[in-house]
Amino acid sequence: MDSLDAFAGGKLAGLEALNLKRTLAPTGRLDGVRVERGGRVLISFSCNDYLGLSHHPSVQAAAAEAVARWGTGSGASRLITGDNPLIEALETRLARLKGTEAACVFGSGYLANTGIVPTLTGKDDLILIDELAHACLWAGAQLSPARTLLFRHNDMDHLEALLADHRADHANALVLTDGVFSMDGDLAPLERMVPLCAAHDAWLMTDDAHGIGVVGGGRGSAFAFDGVAKPPLQMGTLSKAIGGYGGYLCASRPVIDLIKTRARTVIYSTGLPPANAAAAIAALDVIDADPALCAEPIRKARLFTDALGLAPAQSPIVPVLFGPAEAALGAQRGLEAAGFLAVAIRQPTVPEGTARLRFTFSALHADADVLRLAGAVADLRARKAA
Ligand SMILES: *Cc1c(COP(=O)(O)O)cnc(C)c1O
Repeated sequence: MDSLDAFAGGKLAGLEALNLKRTLAPTGRLDGVRVERGGRVLISFSCNDYLGLSHHPSVQAAAAEAVARWGTGSGASRLITGDNPLIEALETRLARLKGTEAACVFGSGYLANTGIVPTLTGKDDLILIDELAHACLWAGAQLSPARTLLFRHNDMDHLEALLADHRADHANALVLTDGVFSMDGDLAPLERMVPLCAAHDAWLMTDDAHGIGVVGGGRGSAFAFDGVAKPPLQMGTLSKAIGGYGGYLCASRPVIDLIKTRARTVIYSTGLPPANAAAAIAALDVIDADPALCAEPIRKARLFTDALGLAPAQSPIVPVLFGPAEAALGAQRGLEAAGFLAVAIRQPTVPEGTARLRFTFSALHADADVLRLAGAVADLRARKAA
């Protein structure tokens, strides 16, 4: 199809001219921190496997055992025959960790958000979403006929003004935010946000993809504040600190029963493979048994921010902004030459003009490597300033 290829080629040429073409780089993860890429072994500061659990012996053994017993796939949607007993066991564990009545496991975090948001909202409703919320929360909002308004990042005065102006015109309201922001590493101010939403009868959902296992003693952002600021909807993923794959929502029993009855990404998508559920349960066992492990990623991140004179890290995610896409790509190449992998993040993942290296810290990084990385980043910034 000539017109099809011309369409794709034209689109790509435009993106390439802006340094926005993306290419995949096959990368073998050798353990929690070392990766093999382009024939070299690099120390990665770009993986979200904050506790190294993807390579933990007991997690790997649990997955292998589940494959041997139950096979590699779940065979169907959960509502047909794909609801392996391990999935329910995992839901019980997640609900316990998050302090909720119930939980629902999805195939991924992206599937969770795109299933939950349109199930809970309709055409008479209002969605309020933080401008820097993850792309899949936006995707969920786009699948809903509800009116969607954005509020300025972490700006509770703006959120309050929008609720005051618009809440009363709608039947229900859903407020969406990351618990830990994926590209900036800051936390949503839940200690203020939870009571604010409650006062306006607006349902708050946190996407805590980067919270579980690393903030709030491993329980997530709702537990990172004095006195606990628990939103009624705590969503997250098993693919970051839990080291595997899959998504979840923790909430009350009626909400979870509705999600399992109506969410299209539960109904029309195949159930999580049993081995993923087994791996996640084993990962939660590790977290339960070793709470000190959960504090390590932030400790490493603070080592880095202290060495560079940046504001102390609030999570294992630390962005260093370079501005134009080409500058961030150049910085990535500079670090790669020094043996470090830190992947440049460009628009539209982050706003234009804020291209960055996004560093993520693992419990398994050696302190000496973190400090060596900080030195290399300091050199890059000095060169940029010169
Ligand atoms: C990674 C991420 C997701 C998507 O989760 P997957 O399980 O990878 O699909 C959702 N929200 C946030 C904030 C994330 O960082």
